[in-house]
Amino acid sequence: MNWLDTDPALAADGWPHGWTTAGGPDFRADPRTPELAAGMQTLRAAAGLRDVAWVHQVHGGRVLRADGPGLAGDADALWTDVPGLAVVGRGADCPLVLVGGRRDDGGAVWGFAHASWRSTVAGITASLLKDMAAAGLRAATARALVCPSAGPCCYEVGDEVREAALAKLGNGANAYFTRRGDRWLLDLWAANAAQLVAAGVPGGAITFTGLCTICGGDRYPSHRRCGEGAGRFAAFIADARTP
Ligand SMILES: [Zn+2]
Repeated sequence: MNWLDTDPALAADGWPHGWTTAGGPDFRADPRTPELAAGMQTLRAAAGLRDVAWVHQVHGGRVLRADGPGLAGDADALWTDVPGLAVVGRGADCPLVLVGGRRDDGGAVWGFAHASWRSTVAGITASLLKDMAAAGLRAATARALVCPSAGPCCYEVGDEVREAALAKLGNGANAYFTRRGDRWLLDLWAANAAQLVAAGVPGGAITFTGLCTICGGDRYPSHRRCGEGAGRFAAFIADARTP
């Protein structure tokens, strides 16, 4: 499928996954509408997934478990251990972080976080890993991918974002900010990788596509580059492909 990109490391570890490009369906519609559900069905069929689940992303810190296909509710992270069920996140510049890992009983747990700056400051990736661990995930077996998104080269924010990050994440969050003029460049990739590592995911098991949606061309939609009319792309992870 020429509008689905994948990561070799995640694929080699056995995780069906991928992210769409600007050439695929547009996922900008309200996630509670039939229009969005239709895009999800197009993705499901193209990627050979049995079922898909998604959330209404609200830039917060809430994590949900998907019990079955369709809209799971309002949240910025979604995980599951239901066989054949893919979880799907939507983004334009916000990093989507895909995570999959094993349980001691031979099962698996997989999920994603939508790591906008507000969700990152709220600890969305840390909370996702906490809930997945409570469901039996052994973090040492986990593999994670940071999908194309606004990179540390381009993601400018103001003082209020840095102040919120320091207040919530501690002074260590200083490391994610670089001064540029009277603004700050925020490294959301590093900030979320730190939450993965703190949860026990091996640093070497985290892949960054390194593709910036703002300066990296037009392969992916970007809110900052395209403005209010920007489309959205989607990223998914599942446990098993079914014909
Ligand atoms: Zn960039």
